[in-house]
Amino acid sequence: MQVRPTDPMSPHQAVTFFFDRAADQVGLDDEMRDVLRGSYRELSVQVPVRLDDGRLMVFNGYRVQHNGARGPYKGGIRYHPDADIDEVRALAALMTWKTAIVDLPFGGAKGGVQCEPYLLSDAEKQRLTRRFTSMIGYILGVNRDIPAPDMNTNAQTMAWMMDEFGKRYGYNPACVTGKPVELGGSLGRDAATGRGVAIAMGECAKERGIPLEGASVAIQGFGNVGSWAARLLHEGGARIVAVSDVRGGIHDKGGIDISLLLPHVSATGSVVGFPRTDPITNEELLELDVEWLVPAALGGVINARNANRINARVIVEAANHPITPAADAELSDAGVVIVPDIIANAGGVTVSYFEWTQNIQQYRWDEDHVNDELHKVMTRAYRDVAAYAAEAKVDLRMAAFDIAVERVARAARLRGYV
Ligand code: NAD
Repeated sequence: MQVRPTDPMSPHQAVTFFFDRAADQVGLDDEMRDVLRGSYRELSVQVPVRLDDGRLMVFNGYRVQHNGARGPYKGGIRYHPDADIDEVRALAALMTWKTAIVDLPFGGAKGGVQCEPYLLSDAEKQRLTRRFTSMIGYILGVNRDIPAPDMNTNAQTMAWMMDEFGKRYGYNPACVTGKPVELGGSLGRDAATGRGVAIAMGECAKERGIPLEGASVAIQGFGNVGSWAARLLHEGGARIVAVSDVRGGIHDKGGIDISLLLPHVSATGSVVGFPRTDPITNEELLELDVEWLVPAALGGVINARNANRINARVIVEAANHPITPAADAELSDAGVVIVPDIIANAGGVTVSYFEWTQNIQQYRWDEDHVNDELHKVMTRAYRDVAAYAAEAKVDLRMAAFDIAVERVARAARLRGYV
């Protein structure tokens, strides 16, 4: 039996804790456990970039391929000061479990460059992206490892990656996903992670009998994932009472009109200062008395320090690993429903898969088709996990990890890894 988790744990220790718990639960043998616990390959590179003022800055970049038993490695690229090898390793492992739980023919990987992107100009970001791509390019490829956007990277970043990769290995848009639509990106990809979050919440609402329409929702993070989730939940009738970004948050008990907030964010770069709302800190947002809490920014924001002050009935992990194992144990004991990251935010990689298949077939799906297929994949995954959880009398995270670990172990065994 595992001991009760305590903070602090590094991101990789936290993900490994959940893996070990699942491995115990499904009775994984020691040899397979050794294979699935660590990364297959970890590439660490120096990324020298000439800044606009002529100085040279040397950044650390990483690409970690965790497991490829079920298919080519797949995972985003993050630009963030915390994107060190431990965090990238943790995120790569989460991608293996995520692609397995939504049953995509991919393994798991992640990449990152440790930098403060807010301090870089667009020209510097382009030089950094090209240099990083050329340094990790030899382990990438359409049937090897396919990057996508993550924190502080976007469709433009993917366009630069595709172009740089193509210079050496030949043009092939399927080498990255999350590209601009003009360069072979999929319709619906930009919204996909947030849409998947909203679909998972709808399924959870039905399964647990917790209403979503008219219910209060607080969302931390208003980037790609948070803003799309907010927009779609608002359109679906939920009451978004608070949202935040790196500069702070805003609160209105009556509900924020997201359709008016979006132009404010486009004009000012932040949710802060949106008229007729009260300012709120990121910490206060997490502790609001709301029905649904959606952390959609950083990892580890709900931890042993603030777990006893969380008031939400349901927490939906739109971000990766926003809840530490210690907080997860405390909140689960208190009866809080937690929809784990590997289901909640799997909509992004699902539409990335659709983009990859469209590129390979050289055929474009219309947006309704993308959204319908995403809906099918997300509802099936949520229902599989909820059914397992009910049958095995475990929480949703344990159920999701159990199913994912068993699927990956089966593929690894069939390939003869052990
Ligand atoms: P993003 O860069 O588009 O947005 C990040 C948001 O978080 C921004 O609003 C930013 O201001 C805010 N933020 C940054 N630091 C913060 C802090 N200290 N406190 C509060 N807010 C802060 O990133 P994203 O793509 O929306 O990713 C958000 C999360 O979702 C990440 O954990 C990412 O790994 C996860 N995720 C993203 C995708 C995807 O398709 N983009 C897919 C799966 C999971």
